[in-house]
Amino acid sequence: MPANTVSEGATLNTTTVARVAATSGPVETQKNIKIRRKALHSTEDADDVRPIIVPVLPTLTVITVSVPAEAMRVGNTDANTSISPYSPSEPSGSPPLFSSPLLVHSSHSEGTIPTTRAPPKPDTPSLMGPVEAAIRRSMLRHGPPKKYTEATMPAIYDAYPSAPLQHMDPDLVDTWENYPGNKLLAHPFDGKACSRNLDGVKFKIFSAVLEITNSQSPGLSPPRPSAAAIEAGFTPPCFLIYDLTEDDRQLLLERSVWSSTNVTFHVTSFHPTCPDFLFSIKGFGTNRTEDVCQIVHSVWHDDETESFLDSITESFPRGERANAKQTISRFIASMWVTLLPVKQSGNILAPQFNVYANGSLILRQAVWTRLREYLADRVYASSLLGNGTTEITPFHCSICRSVDHPMGLCPFPDIKGWNGPSMRRIIENMKASRSKTRGTVRRHT
Ligand SMILES: [Zn+2]
Repeated sequence: MPANTVSEGATLNTTTVARVAATSGPVETQKNIKIRRKALHSTEDADDVRPIIVPVLPTLTVITVSVPAEAMRVGNTDANTSISPYSPSEPSGSPPLFSSPLLVHSSHSEGTIPTTRAPPKPDTPSLMGPVEAAIRRSMLRHGPPKKYTEATMPAIYDAYPSAPLQHMDPDLVDTWENYPGNKLLAHPFDGKACSRNLDGVKFKIFSAVLEITNSQSPGLSPPRPSAAAIEAGFTPPCFLIYDLTEDDRQLLLERSVWSSTNVTFHVTSFHPTCPDFLFSIKGFGTNRTEDVCQIVHSVWHDDETESFLDSITESFPRGERANAKQTISRFIASMWVTLLPVKQSGNILAPQFNVYANGSLILRQAVWTRLREYLADRVYASSLLGNGTTEITPFHCSICRSVDHPMGLCPFPDIKGWNGPSMRRIIENMKASRSKTRGTVRRHT
């Protein structure tokens, strides 16, 4: 899969997209994968399948290419290498992306996660080859329950890679980090509901994970706020799903957002890639995405930017600079812009333009942060449109928590068969919460 197609599903329904770089090669879309998977389980064409071995190749193809972008990381075998070319495979040893101050501590919290359970056994018999194992797995699996919305889910963007662990007790983060085996993060939609009833959300997600994976092995570790978060009134709404088989890990990542009438949650890798979303530009009186894309392209390729990118390359050991330069060039070339038709009060259109680039190319958060900060600090302007202003966290959607759009432009409620929260329900909950607070204040006064 070409690197610049990693985030094909990232565009909003209500936006238009302009890419500077043309897609170089065929794109393996989720739709195609689903079509082929459906064909795999279909019996309608059984007469056409004469030799027993015929379904083998499609089966193997489906399983090997259906890993979503969030599951794809770059193999980085050199601890000193900050950037390496994109490759759709998960390395056996993930780099320590969560190297934020949250992890700088020495104490450990014991017993947060049950330790009596043995690590899950691999479900591939040792004498079985990968092809046979893939066939067996696909034959055994009939797919997740239909109660969960079936769709290609839009991408959800955090402000930075370690954002899910913001407000989390560092001891718990350390425990999660060191727990062996396959694990994922689960982010409930509608975070306010989570903060009100953590236990309720916990068991809903736990039950859903067992149901989706059809396994009794996985466990769920709830979040625990840091002392500072408790003082500030924050609850980190992010759970750890642990003791997963590799198949179940990929299954949960494949749809990424699981939505039933009971609960809706977003599943991400424990070591998520750097976000594609970089910043938003506002202040331009136009709906022409291509004009703004051209402005961004000009800035990203001027002498000043070239000089800055060279300085990043120069910070690498000499033997790694050629690779780093190539990867940074691919990151810059992957840029795309979307129009966000934001409206101000009075139904006045005030369009914003989101700027994205393939964050999965950049392995180290520090490098990605330098790139993002530099690019967001540049001036984006034209003689016709004037100056735009940039913002790196323009929104925080109350439905899906993505930072690249407001709740009113959240693409999830528009998905056919969507079971999750809607803007109407969120607003009703907000009103109910406010009236309850006012009632409490009156009773106290
Ligand atoms: Zn949203």
